[in-house]
Amino acid sequence: MNNTYPFVNTPLPYAYDSLEPYIDEKTMHLHHDRHLQTYIDNLNAIIKEHPELQTWTLEGLLELSAFLPKEIRQPVINNAGGVYNHHFFFDSMTPAGKQPEENPLLAEIARQFGSLEAFQEQLKKEALAVFGSGYAWLAADGGKLKIIRTANQDTPLPLDLQPLLALDVWEHAYYLKHYNQRAAYIDDWFSIVDWEKASRRFAEIPRYL
Ligand code: MN
Repeated sequence: MNNTYPFVNTPLPYAYDSLEPYIDEKTMHLHHDRHLQTYIDNLNAIIKEHPELQTWTLEGLLELSAFLPKEIRQPVINNAGGVYNHHFFFDSMTPAGKQPEENPLLAEIARQFGSLEAFQEQLKKEALAVFGSGYAWLAADGGKLKIIRTANQDTPLPLDLQPLLALDVWEHAYYLKHYNQRAAYIDDWFSIVDWEKASRRFAEIPRYL
């Protein structure tokens, strides 16, 4: 995607119906074409009025939000966060049945959490603990894996962590299919995690001794 103003919506990296039966086609249309688009439109409308910010990257707007004019600080955090988080979430999934048996990240998860199942239990617990709207993340602090949660459209960027996977638990992510059953949605989500991309992100993190 275009990483500076004007921000544009890029197509999903898979077909809208390819996450079925775990996430339905209609939810993916609404989520990508309407929810994400609204964050992009809102962010562009704010930055349009601030030419000095038009060369800032999406990550820059989020990491350096303390330097933004006070009257647009929270709206930028909300909307740039909404763009960043949704791209990350959509990029955390892949069509069912494409998950690899093993890769360096999965090996590290088994080492640090005991097993993939133990990791999934912890991520699920964290995702269920999000009160209202937000995300659960697998992130890395150097080589150390962490499970965290963020509220609303906050991102892990100000925490100085490298995000690896994002799980959107706003109700719009699952309400049409799973109704209010967030736990059932999370269980389904584990079947479509893009472990290959997450492992590539993990491999790119600089390690310091
Ligand atoms: Mn969402």
